[in-house]
Amino acid sequence: MKRTPITVAYGDGIGPEIMRATLRVLEAAGAALEIETIEIGEQQYLRGHSSGIPPEAWESLRRTRVFLKAPITTPLGGGYKSLNVTIRKTLGLFANVRPTVAYAPYIPTLHPQMDLVIVRENEEDLYGGIEHRQTEEVVQCLKLITRPGSERVIRYAFEYARLYGRKKVTAMTKDNIMKLTDGLFHKVFEEVAAEYPDLEHEHLIIDIGSARLADTPEIFDVIVTPNLYGDILSDIAAQIAGSVGMGGSANIGEQAAMFEAIHGSAPPLAGKDLANPSGLLQAAVMMLVHIGQPEVAERIQNAWLRTLEEGLHTIDIYREGHSRARLGTQAFADAVIERLGQHPEHLKPVSIQAQTPLKITLPTRHPARKELTGVDVFLAWSEDGRNPERLAQRLKALEPPSLQLNMITNRGTKVWPGGFPETFCTDHWRCRFQGEHPQPQDILELLRRISEAGLEFIKTENLYTFDGVPGFSLGQGQ
Ligand code: NAD
Repeated sequence: MKRTPITVAYGDGIGPEIMRATLRVLEAAGAALEIETIEIGEQQYLRGHSSGIPPEAWESLRRTRVFLKAPITTPLGGGYKSLNVTIRKTLGLFANVRPTVAYAPYIPTLHPQMDLVIVRENEEDLYGGIEHRQTEEVVQCLKLITRPGSERVIRYAFEYARLYGRKKVTAMTKDNIMKLTDGLFHKVFEEVAAEYPDLEHEHLIIDIGSARLADTPEIFDVIVTPNLYGDILSDIAAQIAGSVGMGGSANIGEQAAMFEAIHGSAPPLAGKDLANPSGLLQAAVMMLVHIGQPEVAERIQNAWLRTLEEGLHTIDIYREGHSRARLGTQAFADAVIERLGQHPEHLKPVSIQAQTPLKITLPTRHPARKELTGVDVFLAWSEDGRNPERLAQRLKALEPPSLQLNMITNRGTKVWPGGFPETFCTDHWRCRFQGEHPQPQDILELLRRISEAGLEFIKTENLYTFDGVPGFSLGQGQ
């Protein structure tokens, strides 16, 4: 078989030992790999690479486009960027795919029927890291949800479900509150779902959705979410399935993919030959399918299941009276290697078919007619007892002919006109000006007047309609 070039990083903490164990299993199973090793993580951070990756590592990743990565340690203290977020975004790894399966009774769990896959959007949402402190009292984080980002991951979830014979795709958002951002994700979900009539689909609000996941995970099949919700949900899922040491994940892009365990570098276990290599091994199995070596993936997976059901367990899943032996990291790998070619007798054996990696194409769309209708000017203001009425009076006197002040909100709650004295006000005010066909120059004129009047504007957001539909939220309030 032709060898596939892959990039491997041994990582930090337990990384090197679980990577060694994993690669030994891959080799024994006959994986045809040409391995390039890179050094990333703690040492690179400390050497001054703020994202933990030196330039030569990028070269390897761009060459092989397949990355098997052990966990890394983020040094304590500020100034270090998340290596995972950097890799995902730089390589365009838009979907994070995390299967979570219960292996009861061999791994204790309250949810023996659990078998689900969380497909999480991987590049946007609050993970853009665009944060600002704007006033004495207020900081903000920008939540960016895009149509292509949402559509790509949602299509991927449906295609994945179809390919792997799954029956249902569930989306979870909070679009009852975030009507534009989460609303877009939900809307795109409904549009895409209509193209897959063979699959069931449902949408749940994230709060009740995560409660149900924690309580009855067996009702779920494939779950697709924006970035942050998926991050939280997938850890809940791994935890209730039995062990964080057992899960692997794939980060999939158009041109590259990264495979890793879901857990971190577990520094207290490092160098003790105690860590469970299963999470990284599961990631490696996903990688083998991705690079077109499904038969090797299947051999490993069945041998691994056999090892688990024979009660050969690492410390994290070992239970006196249930497990047969407590094995170290390398001995566990040896046990899997000895069982290559065998199938589990009690757990369901897997049969892995060759798959061509999923290609997601987005339909072309006609841009909407975009019209400027006003501007939200955000002010830092704490004079006059923070009385919104006073602020409105001052702003009304500054209106240019084409823009009229029609609302002031504080933390999104309308405080003028008709605010309540009970509403707590911070020093951060959104002042909405709208008018008939305002031009950008009118906004500049307004800002000039505001500034000359001694008021401090800290940011603006233009208000547009798209095909006549407002592209902005309304203030909450009476
Ligand atoms: P962790 O996942 O390393 O450990 C959480 C708990 O799970 C610990 O009790 C640990 O002993 C146990 N555990 C984890 N993996 C195990 C395994 N394979 N076998 C047995 N037990 C295992 O999370 P943490 O302690 O919050 O983080 C430690 C470091 O890892 C931090 O520096 C963090 O930034 C980093 N981290 C890296 C990644 C990654 O590289 N993808 C992910 C998460 C955390």
